[in-house]
Amino acid sequence: MLSYQHIYHAGNLADVHKHSMLAWALAYMTRKDKALSYLETHAGRALYDLSDAAALKTAEAAQGIGRAADWFAPDHPYSQVCARIKAAHGDHAYPGSPIIAAESLRPMDNLTLSELHPQEFAALKENMISYGGVFKQMDGWEMALSMCPPEPRRGFLLIDPSFEVKSDYQTIPKIIAQIHRKWGVGVIMLWYPILSDGPHKPMVRALKDTIPDGLNHEVSFPPAREGHRMIGSGLFVVNAPYGFAEEAADLSSLFSRQLSGPM
Ligand code: SAM
Repeated sequence: MLSYQHIYHAGNLADVHKHSMLAWALAYMTRKDKALSYLETHAGRALYDLSDAAALKTAEAAQGIGRAADWFAPDHPYSQVCARIKAAHGDHAYPGSPIIAAESLRPMDNLTLSELHPQEFAALKENMISYGGVFKQMDGWEMALSMCPPEPRRGFLLIDPSFEVKSDYQTIPKIIAQIHRKWGVGVIMLWYPILSDGPHKPMVRALKDTIPDGLNHEVSFPPAREGHRMIGSGLFVVNAPYGFAEEAADLSSLFSRQLSGPM
């Protein structure tokens, strides 16, 4: 049973972390004149209206992109995508990862997205109509296992689960290792939440044991509201592009500098 809906969380500080690194990585990878494949297991609806009652209810966007928008230089790929989406759809519009990817890709690149939730899938197809791509209403894990290695082999796989299924924490390291064995050159980026009781810790240990040269990057932030368990955001990246670690370190400094003052 799928109950998670990203509209309640879109534009929060975890999205700022994941989306700014995604935009940076794809801007870097598309500098080379060689086609790439972009795949995403858990796509969501791609475009969010932050004035929607659901987004206002949690106020996570206000705590997130609401104050982080000017943390980034205007020529940062994340600022540029956010600005283009606002210009096209209005001031309250916020891009999800599929639009961030599609805005970076070139006509020679391939985009494949899966999303299981029927309403989210319908919205995804509608919101992505001007970009094109292959959209699959299917389990993202099955999509990744059946489509990797993709053609062209040079590529990026984003895995951004909702962690509604508690066994995800145990199965994710095994699935990522399986995909990595089949697709040695693929960049694989997993996002995970950092919750106050630390359910991610054994998963991250297992990922590091299986893929020792994977890059792990975490940022912490105050809970969006009292009692909220999410206190940070993590990425585990296989075959991280050149310069990713430096960009991530800059982002860590930005998070701690910007969040150290009064809230
Ligand atoms: N990646 C999106 C972004 O950053 O804009 C947000 C995705 S949201 C965290 C997770 C999405 O995964 C939800 O839309 C949910 O409906 C979907 N989902 C949950 N289980 C899934 C599965 N097994 N396969 C594909 N999609 C799934």
